[in-house]
This record gives sequence, C-alpha cells and structure tokens, in this order.
Amino acid sequence: MLSRPKKTAPGAAAPAWTPDMPLVEVHDVHKSFGDLEVLKGVSFNVSQGEVVCIIGPSGSGKSTLIRCINGLNNIQQGSIKVEGQEVNDPNLNLLELRKKVGIVFQQYNLFPHKTALENVMMAPVKVLKEPKKEVEERARALIAKVRLGGKEDVYPGHLSGGQQQRVAIARSLAMRPDVMLFDEVTAALDPETVKEVLLTIKELAAEGMTCILVTHEMGFAREVADHVYFTDRGVIVEHGPPEELFTRAKDERTQRFLSQVI
Ligand code: ADP
Ligand code: MG
Repeated sequence: MLSRPKKTAPGAAAPAWTPDMPLVEVHDVHKSFGDLEVLKGVSFNVSQGEVVCIIGPSGSGKSTLIRCINGLNNIQQGSIKVEGQEVNDPNLNLLELRKKVGIVFQQYNLFPHKTALENVMMAPVKVLKEPKKEVEERARALIAKVRLGGKEDVYPGHLSGGQQQRVAIARSLAMRPDVMLFDEVTAALDPETVKEVLLTIKELAAEGMTCILVTHEMGFAREVADHVYFTDRGVIVEHGPPEELFTRAKDERTQRFLSQVI
C-alpha cells in the first residue's frame, strides 16, 4: 500500500523551522492601499545567509514589500513566513517577529537627545528589559563594528548622515535579528558618506547575516548580492544572480531600467 503524507490536524503547530528551510518565504503577496493594488502577486524565498537586492523604478512597491515582511503593512492575499512563522497570523507575537527582523530606513530617525550609545541600547533595555550592563557591552561592540568606536557619547546632531545611519544599523543589530531589511538606506546621504554605510552592510553580509536590500546602488548590488530581483508596478519582472541580470537581462523593462541607472 502506498503511504500517504500525514495530514496536519487543524490548529496543529506548523513543523519547526530548520535552517535548511527558507528563512523568509514570500508567496503570492497582494497588497492594496484602497483601490490601488501595489503588490500584484509577489513570490520569492530567501535562505539563511543569503543577500538579496530588490531593484526597480520608484513607485514599483519595493518599500511596501519590505514593510510587509516585518508586519508594518498587512497584506490582502498570499503568505509571508519568517522562520516558518506566518507574519499575518493574527495570533503572531509582533515583538517576537520584530526581534527576528531588523529594519533600517532611508530616514534613520535617531533620538536627537540620546547619545549614539544610548540610541543603540534603548530597545533592548526598554522593550526587551535586558540587563543594562549586558546591553551596554553589546552596544559598545556594535558601535565598534560599524566603525564608530570613540563616538559612543556623541549626539546624532554632531554626526554625519553616514555616521548616523551606521548608528541606526547598530541599533537594529542590538536586537540580535536573524534577517536585516534595508530600504534605500543610502539614498538620503551625501555621496562621500554612502561608501562607509555600504562597507558596513558588506561586512555584515560577509559575516553571514541574511540581508534583503532595496537599493539604487547598482555597483553594490552587483558586488554583494547573491540574487537580484527587478520589480516594476507591483510584480517581479525578472530575477537572477547579479552577473546574469546586469549583463543579460531578458525583459525589455529590466533592460530599459538598467540602461537608465548604470
Ligand atoms: P517604491 O518603494 O518602489 O518606490 P512604494 O512601495 O513606496 O514604492 O509605493 C508603491 C505605491 O504605493 C506608490 O504608488 C505609493 O504612492 C503607494 N503607497 C505606498 N504607501 C502607501 C500608503 N501608506 N497609502 C497609500 N498609498 C501608498
Ligand atoms: Mg521606496
């Protein structure tokens, strides 16, 4: 007799996530704001340690997609799982999700009246209620890691844009995420400080951090990404390893976009 796959009892917990499974699973995601459908069936998986770049014209839904992955936006259809957990499950503990998924935006929004160190320490101390001493040690190590050793006691207003963005990255890392989302984190920076932020991200990626980046830095995407997704008007038009997508794009929309930005 043929054995049938076992049915999972209704309400039974999903099988435990293991690192050989996708860390982030996005399946047929549809997202609308009122009548405007912004994501029209987006699917992709990200494995642990993978670095994925999302590129595409302004307004194509990249930020919306990133925000859906850590539950900042709800979705109308489809599924998003992080380590096997459905992000849109109404019973999901959002704090648990936010601990796993770090996000850094174009606007770094540091607390202006807190020093770099205090900014990095804030969430683990206030939200996770972790012991201050332990958090401080970790925060100092993270500030050194983003190459800001010596700036611990400096207020954001006395740091350059690139330095503030690196504090924002350290602040996100202080929650010990398993995946980092970066939404055009260098777009608002002076050209001379863009490089140092990209270097920080590159170092993180090299250490094995799973990263999903929306970026206009094509050189960076080409160098650092394992896989690149080109989006346009709410769909993934084309994707592939960077050397393939950047040199042999098949779709006319991808070719046109790349010819404008490279
Ligand atoms: P991208 O990041 O690729 O530039 P976005 O995800 O920011 O694109 O936006 C995609 C579309 O969704 C745009 O038309 C934008 O105006 C719209 N949009 C984004 N956020 C909202 C919102 N909160 N309410 C209404 N429309 C939104
Ligand atoms: Mg955007």
